[in-house]
Amino acid sequence: MGDLMKIFNTRTGLKEDFIPQDPFEVKAYVCGPTVYDLCHLGHARTYINFDVLKRYLISLGYKVIHVQNFTDIDEKIDQRAKKEGISPHEVAERFIREYFFDMDSLKVMRATKYTKASEYVPKIIKITERLLELGYAYRSGNTIYFDVGAAGGFSELVKDLNETIVDEIRVQGKRGPFDFVLWKVTGQGFDSPFGIGVPGWHTECVAMSMDTLGETLDIHWGGKDLIYPHHECESLIAKTLTGKRFVRYWVHNDFVLFKGEKMSKSSGGKIYIRDLLEKYPAEVLRTWILRSHYREKIEFSEESLEETQVLYEKICKAAAKSRDKEEMGQCAKDFAAIFMSALDDDLETGKALLAVEELSDRVLEGKVKGAWRIFSLVETILGIRLRAPH
Ligand SMILES: [Zn+2]
Repeated sequence: MGDLMKIFNTRTGLKEDFIPQDPFEVKAYVCGPTVYDLCHLGHARTYINFDVLKRYLISLGYKVIHVQNFTDIDEKIDQRAKKEGISPHEVAERFIREYFFDMDSLKVMRATKYTKASEYVPKIIKITERLLELGYAYRSGNTIYFDVGAAGGFSELVKDLNETIVDEIRVQGKRGPFDFVLWKVTGQGFDSPFGIGVPGWHTECVAMSMDTLGETLDIHWGGKDLIYPHHECESLIAKTLTGKRFVRYWVHNDFVLFKGEKMSKSSGGKIYIRDLLEKYPAEVLRTWILRSHYREKIEFSEESLEETQVLYEKICKAAAKSRDKEEMGQCAKDFAAIFMSALDDDLETGKALLAVEELSDRVLEGKVKGAWRIFSLVETILGIRLRAPH
């Protein structure tokens, strides 16, 4: 490989050469879902986008160690459990199963390891105790808070707090407005030296990622909505504990919009993956997501999915016509180079697919020889299986 792959680092706001700590191995941590509901299109996007990065890195020769968590401690899980008259554990386990069903349908490669917050409570408690000892945490009433001011404030991802964060709630008893919860004594949940209760969300990912991947991660991936507070807080906790850089490359994908609004579970317009899979094949859904760059917003529309279905069928037809395994001609070589350099440039899957579309036209016109290699890249790197057209 000549030039290094470039990836956009949220921390610096720049496309940077991708250089992992170990030249052969990439340590990647992806924030997983809170398991209280089925996955929607926004989840599909996050995990498909990361899946392509992972497949691409594997194609470059890296071994990718991919850890992903399930947030199985959350008020929303408790609420659903109450409503359905079952235990929070049953709710979480059910939606973990549903998660795998959806992601397997979408051909998302499984992570090396999946972790659950509930299994990391002892480690989360240890971190909280350590932060108290170091003077970066304090107790106020029933809550243990992280003292953002004592730790030097946020500096990793959010550049201007006042401008970026408008909805920070001032809670009585907090030393600073941005201090966040490490442990809340609620009388229910988990036993701890601070009292029976539940951990805050941010510590969980620090505990799980450090335990499985070490103190410094190469890639930390998540949806853009996680930049603040989740990733900023994770970063501050980790740096306070180790004094080292926690993450080399912070990578965030943008949202799927529905009627101009972010698709999230709280704001009405959520489209479940499995509802869409009743209408469109998984390959079409993947192609639709990958036609946009991961840092662009995607507006959901049935028309664009139908258009993508037509495109997918055309690519399949061209791939079927190219099964001859002929020697690559110059034109096919040029297209392969365009495909790879698009992915090298911050994972421009949209540009890569445009090249595939153009190539498909030429193949169908009988103008290109040996194009099967490029279609096999579509299958292995973009994870889009090209089926024989009927
Ligand atoms: Zn997380």
